[in-house]
Amino acid sequence: MRTTNWMVTAALLVSLSAAAQQAANSPSPAPASAPDASRGSQSSQQTAAPASQPADAQSAPVAQPLPAPAPTTMEEVVNLFIQHEHDLIKMLAKRTPIVETYLQNLTLDPQLGPVPSEDHYFLGRMDMGETIDRKDYLKEQDKSMEQRLMGGFQKLYKVQYQPLGFSWMIYADRTDFDRNHYDFRYVRREFLGDVRCLVFDVTPKKDAGRGRFLGRLWVEDQSYNIVRLNGTYNPAPRNSYFFHMDSWRLNLIPGYWVPSFIYSEEGDFSAGAKNKMAFKAQTRIWGYDLKRGNKDDELTQIRVDSVTDETPANQDASPLQAERVWQQQAEDNVVERLVGGGLLAPEGDVDRILQTVVNNLEVTNNIDLPRPVRTRVLLTSPLETFSVGNTIVISRGLVDVLPDEASLAAVLAHELAHIVLGHNLGSKYAFNDRMLFSDDTTYQNLGFRHIPEEEEAADKKAIELLKNSPYVQKLDNVGLFLKALQARAPALSALLTTHLGNPLSSNGTVTRLAALSTQGPALDNAKLDQIAALPLGGRVKVNPWDDKAEMVKTAAVAITSARDKMPFEVTPFFPRLSRYGANAAPAAAPTTAAATPNPSTPGSN
Ligand SMILES: [Zn+2]
Repeated sequence: MRTTNWMVTAALLVSLSAAAQQAANSPSPAPASAPDASRGSQSSQQTAAPASQPADAQSAPVAQPLPAPAPTTMEEVVNLFIQHEHDLIKMLAKRTPIVETYLQNLTLDPQLGPVPSEDHYFLGRMDMGETIDRKDYLKEQDKSMEQRLMGGFQKLYKVQYQPLGFSWMIYADRTDFDRNHYDFRYVRREFLGDVRCLVFDVTPKKDAGRGRFLGRLWVEDQSYNIVRLNGTYNPAPRNSYFFHMDSWRLNLIPGYWVPSFIYSEEGDFSAGAKNKMAFKAQTRIWGYDLKRGNKDDELTQIRVDSVTDETPANQDASPLQAERVWQQQAEDNVVERLVGGGLLAPEGDVDRILQTVVNNLEVTNNIDLPRPVRTRVLLTSPLETFSVGNTIVISRGLVDVLPDEASLAAVLAHELAHIVLGHNLGSKYAFNDRMLFSDDTTYQNLGFRHIPEEEEAADKKAIELLKNSPYVQKLDNVGLFLKALQARAPALSALLTTHLGNPLSSNGTVTRLAALSTQGPALDNAKLDQIAALPLGGRVKVNPWDDKAEMVKTAAVAITSARDKMPFEVTPFFPRLSRYGANAAPAAAPTTAAATPNPSTPGSN
């Protein structure tokens, strides 16, 4: 039931405005942070704690490694993290998480620095078994992935796309991570977030072969697991080149640090640099614990058990009631299927904020629907919204880049308008046979695109809803966001390519809510207080193990130049690391989270 009062969401959305101030080069923005890293916000911990619970009864339990005796020398530390790396590879061998890579090619803008000139997007399931492989969600991606991703750069960037491109750097070396192939040199101690680490430089031994890891490892100093890898592979074969990558792991289950984020960047814009080619890319891994994650049971029957028949016992359903139950059945089927396929976050923290905004629109417009409107977060980066039945879905990437609550209200208003106008799509999914497809064909089997006439009508209605709402005073910000999107749209066609809903743009022109795009001041990069759109990753963080989404808590960071704004751009990851259960109630805390540093830990002197 929705509340009947207009609620002030400013408090809920504190992080929205704070994140708007985030700057480029600060370590604190934490675009994608550890799920338990929200220290200093005790009130939210009751929800955060269960969020990081591992497998439930349905999924295979993860055996926790036995505690080893505390090492007394650096040599023993090296032996331990080598051993734990092999344990991790073994533990994850049966998992098939989702892997998403979003890449922006860069060109130099005199005022803004390197800016995106074009972009590429990949989404697939990664088989972490013997032969690491990825199965792609996007049509016809498998054969031409290398080609499409590389565009003109195939020659230069060949080898690292075989077989798994950006997901390569989840391990330092999948097959030969040992002392026969590598030299390890202890560097120093360093904190990453709340976690004290030992830092090692790693170099391949002579004659260790091609494509060996070269770079730096961070190893946490309690159980000695690798938590971060930074470097490249070496030596490269002739005419090829390996990317540089920064790869992060999170302690999402007891005893293991799970590969979660990889940032890649290449390019040199200095005077006299020969190669002007450059890019930056974010790879996110999630969906490790999908209930139907095993290959054999991808075709699973969906049970519709959440629909309750609300007609009184002695009454038959009227035709209208039957129609509504039918639509809800379709809605529940789709939501369940998308969660099962790792594309939709389970209901959570972010939905409460989205629902409050929707509620504000409903209350001030006297909208009273037979069933409450629900909201859910699509876990992917491309900017899209769609609705099925009474559920509004908005992508993580879109929530990330919206500058304020009014802009969020505007994109939600478009979908609410579809619901109010009865533009119901997807009732065909009430037939369960239509839910029987493999995860990687989700985009071919589901779709919620409206005809142009319904799109137009929804935009018109959305503006009407906004004008009756408290957001009417902030529509200048919406106009500014649309202008910023328009300015970047020609370069960001992959980010603007939707996979389930209607696109926000057509042929490089922003069409969504176009009537609002003339509203507000002109876009002015030089004005540092004008934040029209945010970088990707600044708002929503996803727990890669259980897919739960929550709002990022970042401190305000002053923007000091136009280059700090980075609207719609990819930035490095800097998750705030913390140990599993570190913020949870004692009952939920696993034994590994005992946070007493071992006095006999080497290197402490
Ligand atoms: Zn629409």
